[in-house]
Amino acid sequence: MVQVTPTHRRDLLRAGAALTAGGTFVTGCGATGTATAAPPATTPMSPSPSASPNRLPFQVTHGPRAVAAVALTFHGQGDPALATRLLTTAEQHGAHLTVLAVGSWLDAYPALARRILDGGHDLGNHTQRHISINAMAEADARKEITACAERLKRLTGSIGSWFRPSRAPTASPLVARLAAEAGYPHVLSYDVDSLDYTRPGAPAITRKVLAEVTGGSVVSMHFGYPDTVAALPAVLQELHRRGLRAVTTTELLS
Ligand SMILES: [Zn+2]
Repeated sequence: MVQVTPTHRRDLLRAGAALTAGGTFVTGCGATGTATAAPPATTPMSPSPSASPNRLPFQVTHGPRAVAAVALTFHGQGDPALATRLLTTAEQHGAHLTVLAVGSWLDAYPALARRILDGGHDLGNHTQRHISINAMAEADARKEITACAERLKRLTGSIGSWFRPSRAPTASPLVARLAAEAGYPHVLSYDVDSLDYTRPGAPAITRKVLAEVTGGSVVSMHFGYPDTVAALPAVLQELHRRGLRAVTTTELLS
């Protein structure tokens, strides 16, 4: 029988923060909240984007591969001090991020909306409460999108250009329609998942991102995790060495 030492217990608790009893990730943007694996980040509704911005698919997983730039995109929630440190670190490296803000987070920390925009970053909609939007009834799912959009509009004057579904890498056909009706011309998915929300440690985050990132990539990352803050300088330094600029999603896809 395994003896649970204090250290071991801490590890178990840490793992428990990211895993349900069934072993499913529950805190990441791409977690589906079911026992099945997350679907691939492409669906019949999201063919590969072409190089022409006018021919972007509705659900965007990455930008043009010929572009020497990437978009680092963040789940916007969690400790505001960590969020500010991430933004400041990015700015010190000349990088611009994309923050998909959870509406309830904006309610708690409304000043961060302007802080993000003032740093030259993109700010978008990541639903009001970050629950499994693809599993919701139409009226509830619509409310999740419009409630966050209303907060963005009130705080910044704009609903933002980008919508990312909560707890799923891509939007269901229903959620895609609701996002379009709410005023979002695209759903923003991603082609590189940093898995930072599993708290693997900064070196593992850096390795995962740098092993998969390429020109045009959209990388999924999260505010709220110290490992992510610690990983960002090494990620940005290596992107710079490879000649890849970290730009907003708007710039990547323009
Ligand atoms: Zn998320």
